[in-house]
Amino acid sequence: MTIEQLDVRPAGPDEVGVRVTACAICHSDISYMNGAWGGHLPAVFGHEVAGVVDELGAGVDDVSLGDTVAVTLVRWCGRCPTCAAGLPALCQNRSRLSDLSRSPLTLDGAAVHQGLRCAGFAERVVVHTSQVVRVPAELPAEQTALLACGVITGVGAVLHTAAMPTGATTAVVGLGGVGLNAVQGSVLAGASLVLGVDPVAGKRQFATTLGATHTAEPADAVERALELTGGRGLDLVVVTAPSASAVEDAVSMLADAGTAVLVGLPSGATVSLDPETIAERGLRIAGSKVGSARPHADVPHLASLALAGRLRLEPLVSHRFRLDEINDAIAAARSGEALRVVVAP
Ligand SMILES: [Zn+2]
Ligand SMILES: [Zn+2]
Repeated sequence: MTIEQLDVRPAGPDEVGVRVTACAICHSDISYMNGAWGGHLPAVFGHEVAGVVDELGAGVDDVSLGDTVAVTLVRWCGRCPTCAAGLPALCQNRSRLSDLSRSPLTLDGAAVHQGLRCAGFAERVVVHTSQVVRVPAELPAEQTALLACGVITGVGAVLHTAAMPTGATTAVVGLGGVGLNAVQGSVLAGASLVLGVDPVAGKRQFATTLGATHTAEPADAVERALELTGGRGLDLVVVTAPSASAVEDAVSMLADAGTAVLVGLPSGATVSLDPETIAERGLRIAGSKVGSARPHADVPHLASLALAGRLRLEPLVSHRFRLDEINDAIAAARSGEALRVVVAP
């Protein structure tokens, strides 16, 4: 990436301008940069944004100038069938909302793509009003940024996608930025057992500080899940690790009537599963996009929990960079050792 001076057009109807105070790096940014999902160049990436509202387009009345906000990639209409069903991340009209079907960014008159609908590795963004959620000003900007994607994705996989009942047993496979929040979501949901699975010993250790009751390396995960439950298996396995074998193992870790929630996979991965086992044992396999989140409900709730000390965000930030160090920040995020990396203008 390079630092460029772009023109940002004024906020149009139903759009909001936000001065960026922090933007966290998510694995989706790296997948996008790697070309995993196609897309157009040049582009500005970054979609876990905290900031302050500095411009209101016509018709915007749910935020005010000076509000501290999280900006999410969830651009939604509120009226299509999936929005009405409470799944705004799957909005069917998101590409048609306001003038943002075209990017608000130009370089020497030529369009620059708004990656993941935010373009948060920047000093300012112009986004649809549905993407902007007010948060308490006392929550530090870098924590607000985490709420915008990684936290609602991880916590939501447990609370929303799986709707896990209190006392259930869970495993989280892959203890990165999303997985650690699935561990915290399991604790918030009252899990009786939380097995954290990751090849990196430091991440397993860290997960125990957030509420994992047990840990395992991926190769031992199935055996450990069965051993810890007297052979019954787990009620819920959240898979955030990008591998097909992790999904196959997750199914082997489940108790009868258990649920595997798939949060992220590289496109092109193919998983081998026995349909008879799934049917016979009443297993469920559920996809979870952005944690089936409803950002305008979830972000304020989770911000309150963070301010009350019941959701731990501060220790999730392992690296901090200035915006002009973006390539170092990306390298840190790619390294696999980092938790969340945050850049600030
Ligand atoms: Zn993300
Ligand atoms: Zn919609």
